[in-house]
Amino acid sequence: LQPLGAERTTMIEADSDPRMVLASGNRGKLAEIARVLADDHRIWISQSDFEVPEAEETGLTFIENAIIKARNASAFTGLPALADDSGLEVDALGGAPGIYSARYAGPGKGDAENNAKLLEALSDYPEPEARTARFRCVMVLLRHPADPAPIIAEGVWSGRIALAPRGTEGFGYDPVFVPVGESRHAAELPAAEKDAASHRGQALAALKAQLSAL
Ligand code: IMP
Repeated sequence: LQPLGAERTTMIEADSDPRMVLASGNRGKLAEIARVLADDHRIWISQSDFEVPEAEETGLTFIENAIIKARNASAFTGLPALADDSGLEVDALGGAPGIYSARYAGPGKGDAENNAKLLEALSDYPEPEARTARFRCVMVLLRHPADPAPIIAEGVWSGRIALAPRGTEGFGYDPVFVPVGESRHAAELPAAEKDAASHRGQALAALKAQLSAL
């Protein structure tokens, strides 16, 4: 973090500086965020372009982790920073895997292992009504590292966990997630259709509305 007192100068400079940092190294996510938030006033730059060191996600909630990542990127670059955190909440599992969604099956394991572990954990709940779940995405924009009132936007995509994976689009838990009102699994939806409905798409739309009101 910068020494106290430096933030004020940074904030004033940032007001006339169009650059905003995206606290994520994921290129696909970056492209979507930059596309949706594109306007005449702001330029979105990945934190990888500043070689920002990864922040340790020590929070117990999506919002805490998003704040940690945004503050880390803002402190390192001296620019406003946007971070997101997301995951899957399964009701029968008390909200798990939640903030641990990416590493549910353990370190070094991938999407296929995470999906297999989830299906196994729900094997005692074969009825569709018992398999309700939702993706949640929280986005946080800090105008400077000590910003006491971050801009926060959230999106929720409700559905249920299927009995077996289907589809090849998307990533993560998309093959086992069936959105409300759909017979297709999320991994069977074309990218544009998913972006329009998903937790991330909704959080981005909410953030865009707040940014344009600034
Ligand atoms: P992160 O916010 O990109 O770190 O996402 C955390 C984890 O949540 C991912 O690794 C996925 O396992 C899961 N996740 C988040 N968003 C999605 C989605 O849109 N589809 C499927 N899985 C997701």
